[in-house]
Amino acid sequence: TPLTIIITVIGVIAIVALVTVAVLQNRPLLQKYKYGIVLDAGSSHTALYIYQWPAEKDNNTGRVEQKHSCKVTGKGISSYAAQPEKAGMSLTECMQEAEMVVPAKRHSETPLYLGATAGMRLLNIENRSASDQVFQAVEKALQSFPFSYQGARILSGQEEGAFGWVTVNYLDDRLKQGLETTGALDLGGASTQISFVSHDYDISESPSNSMTFRLYGNDYNLYTHSFLCYGKDQVLRMALAKQTQLGPSTILDPCFHPGYTTTRNYSSLYDSPCVSGRRPREAPTNFSHKGEGNFTKCQEVVKSLFNTTACKYSKCSFNGVFQPPLQGPFGAFSAYYYVMNFLNLTDTSIHLETVKNNLASYCATPWNQIKQMHLSNVKEKYLAEYCFSGTYILTLLTEGYNFTKETYSNIKFIKKIKGSDAGWTLGYMLNLTNMIPAEAPDSPPLPHA
Ligand code: AMP
Repeated sequence: TPLTIIITVIGVIAIVALVTVAVLQNRPLLQKYKYGIVLDAGSSHTALYIYQWPAEKDNNTGRVEQKHSCKVTGKGISSYAAQPEKAGMSLTECMQEAEMVVPAKRHSETPLYLGATAGMRLLNIENRSASDQVFQAVEKALQSFPFSYQGARILSGQEEGAFGWVTVNYLDDRLKQGLETTGALDLGGASTQISFVSHDYDISESPSNSMTFRLYGNDYNLYTHSFLCYGKDQVLRMALAKQTQLGPSTILDPCFHPGYTTTRNYSSLYDSPCVSGRRPREAPTNFSHKGEGNFTKCQEVVKSLFNTTACKYSKCSFNGVFQPPLQGPFGAFSAYYYVMNFLNLTDTSIHLETVKNNLASYCATPWNQIKQMHLSNVKEKYLAEYCFSGTYILTLLTEGYNFTKETYSNIKFIKKIKGSDAGWTLGYMLNLTNMIPAEAPDSPPLPHA
């Protein structure tokens, strides 16, 4: 009858729609998920991550994975200090994308967090009220979306380091299985973090560098430190500040390619708490920044930014910061990966001397040639800075953290693990949603005394 035909047609359309949605969302038919959203408000940009996990597993014990990420257009929220509303508005597009990706019926139960890192830490030091206004604007914008907004805050350096470590070890399944853990090396624009478990580490030597966790029934004693101002953008400012200390109108910078030349403004260079104390008294408005392309000299400039003499502990990395002996494998992500991947230097089984030689010949390549080779697919600002950033990374790892030619191969430069980005966001969400139990899920109950 016509009625049965209509019902059949509607049925077929419904099934096709269901399958299409499942295929588009890349998930098995009828698998139900829960979702969580974390915004990483970094110094140079903000990124939104959507995580998902099976809805039907007891106590949310199913594996959490990254479903989607969105890079917010424009700069980091700290750059909107002078016009805070724009910081809120900048998030709109990615938030709208999130509304499409998370199924509507899950919106109201989906937690939404924003964590800001060193860019906002610096703004907070420099101008507290501007930082508060940026947060107000961001809060207002996020609350206008249908998710379960859980707040926006600045993460401490320890939290940033520790959650990056949790992410890496969670994704590698090391925590659940109680395996030896991987250390985490994170490089941002304004700070850099190192976190690892060291068995011969006595927490009492520097309590501010220690975090203890009980995860899946195992106790972890994590060493973590965040160096504010040692992210790659701030460290570049420090290097330039060092070289312009006497207020010359031209500097010949070994960390930039021969033939590179640009005009920079003294005021904008010194506009950061990382360098403001070094501002020369009598400086011209601008200076000319020219490249020399000399890796060895560049390494000397970078080394001069690490104070390795003062140490009141048994052992230090640099600037008088305690660091126990390095132990185990390490994952190096964020800008570590962007830079070393661009330079084709992610293979750490290659001898450190060879890596340095390769970087030296890259640095010595004339700027015109570099532009010709890469300008079509890399932003000019990044392109100009890879020699400096690569030199900084190698110097930080060896002179700063004390990796040697023997232990360099313990480092792996990584971007993603099993499809999820390495970074603090996943660890942060797992912690705030209590998704990593302190005890192993099926451990037998403790006997009565
Ligand atoms: P943050 O915004 O603090 O997370 O820092 C990220 C850092 O990575 C900043 O220094 C960015 O300039 C840098 N960065 C992001 N993408 C790239 C890329 N493709 N190449 C080089 N550096 C990058």
